[in-house]
Amino acid sequence: MIKTNLNTCYKTANYFNKMFFEIPRKHINFILVEIPEWGNFCEDNGDVWIEMGKTYPNYNLFKNVLVHELVHMYQWLNPDPVDKEDHGPSFFRWNRYLTEYGVVLEERY
Ligand SMILES: [Zn+2]
Repeated sequence: MIKTNLNTCYKTANYFNKMFFEIPRKHINFILVEIPEWGNFCEDNGDVWIEMGKTYPNYNLFKNVLVHELVHMYQWLNPDPVDKEDHGPSFFRWNRYLTEYGVVLEERY
């Protein structure tokens, strides 16, 4: 079991964001909530943030969930004109690049 903190969230997000997504920093906001093992991408009136759990069984799951939510943030900023699904082909195409960095996107964890 690992405990998360905001610093780890931002560090991990910045690493993958620089490499893949290039989401403007002002959008990258985290809050920690009591939802172990998964995260949420949240949007309200143009504000966006990611909810992450306070604990995860292991770091890998934390990383997979965090990057999963970053992809949703990327989709929000760059909507695919054809693929409107949250977990459609435009979501899973990221696995092509991410698996090399130890991240596997899944629909559910
Ligand atoms: Zn999702």
